[in-house]
Amino acid sequence: MLSSPALRRGAALLALVLTACANEPAAVKGRAPHHRDGTFQNNYVEFAPRGLLALLRWRWQAWRDGLPAPPQAPTPTLVPDLGLIQGNAKAGAAMEPSITWIGHATVLVQLGGLNVLTDPIFSNRASPLSFLGPARAQKPGLWPHELPRIDLVLISHNHYDHLDADSVKMLAAQSGGPPLFVVPLGLKRWFADEGITNVVELDWWQSHRLGPVEVVLTPVQHWSGRGLGDRMRTLWGGYALFAPQLHVFFAGDTGYSKDFADIRAHFADRQADAQGGGFDIALLPIGAYAPRWFMAEQHVNAEEAVRIHLDLGAKASLGIHWGTFELTDESLDEPPRKLLEARRALNVADSSFYTLAVGQTRRLAPRRPLK
Ligand code: ZN
Ligand code: ZN
Repeated sequence: MLSSPALRRGAALLALVLTACANEPAAVKGRAPHHRDGTFQNNYVEFAPRGLLALLRWRWQAWRDGLPAPPQAPTPTLVPDLGLIQGNAKAGAAMEPSITWIGHATVLVQLGGLNVLTDPIFSNRASPLSFLGPARAQKPGLWPHELPRIDLVLISHNHYDHLDADSVKMLAAQSGGPPLFVVPLGLKRWFADEGITNVVELDWWQSHRLGPVEVVLTPVQHWSGRGLGDRMRTLWGGYALFAPQLHVFFAGDTGYSKDFADIRAHFADRQADAQGGGFDIALLPIGAYAPRWFMAEQHVNAEEAVRIHLDLGAKASLGIHWGTFELTDESLDEPPRKLLEARRALNVADSSFYTLAVGQTRRLAPRRPLK
């Protein structure tokens, strides 16, 4: 018979083994070039998150220079057209492709009969703490109770302004059952710890189909981490969404890189159509870029966002990731002004790369007639 110390040793050993299994790294060296020993890496830059000294230098310079300057005007808002959104949500195959900007990187995409949310954050702060950290400058364009039932949630990476625990838990508890969460490699465990199991984890270029919509995770140039000990241990990425009526690209957070030319080449065959191919709409970040010495590798500015729009061959792009949380040194309302300058400089029509008011819906022309 086992004595109780032996039992305890056995139990401790079992716990250790289980913990070791549970903490198995998502990145497996040798699997692909972006898999390193327990961490992930970008395709075109050996990215190292900035250390404490650089962070302090940035914060000191911002304080010295009084940055960010207050915005000249609040972020524009519009009362959402709930009739349109809710009616469309129930239209099934006749759903009109549309996008609604809820704020920051949160967009409601209606396509292929599905209601899709990107990087949902409805909380007051983009932070692990409810009383500290960047606060919302503008309330969400739709409150959670105004949303249609969400079928699919895309999470680009685990930074607090993109993976918000309260918002994710609220969506998982929506009436009618939880949505499917699609996440980059390594994040399934975070969801399991929150009690959420309806999760599909993807590596770059892997895909998952939900009804008529195919979701593909793509490389972008960024990083991950929610604390000091988990930097680059879970993957980050953008998403390509393919429905018969609409092709969408969502970039999450990214610096400028050759990844977007790669994405265009990767999907060239399936995008070809009478109108010359390319995504019908790209959701691209245009804010959180200053100061450049700190941000350039991880966040594009408006001009680089326009270059991404051109690299992708997108028919249209929506500027997101601005006007909601004051994360960096530029004013909250500067990104659309810089976007206008960049369109002029790069000869892009105003109608090809636009911004929306918080709460505003834009209907998009379907690639194929609706049933
Ligand atoms: Zn980020
Ligand atoms: Zn972000």
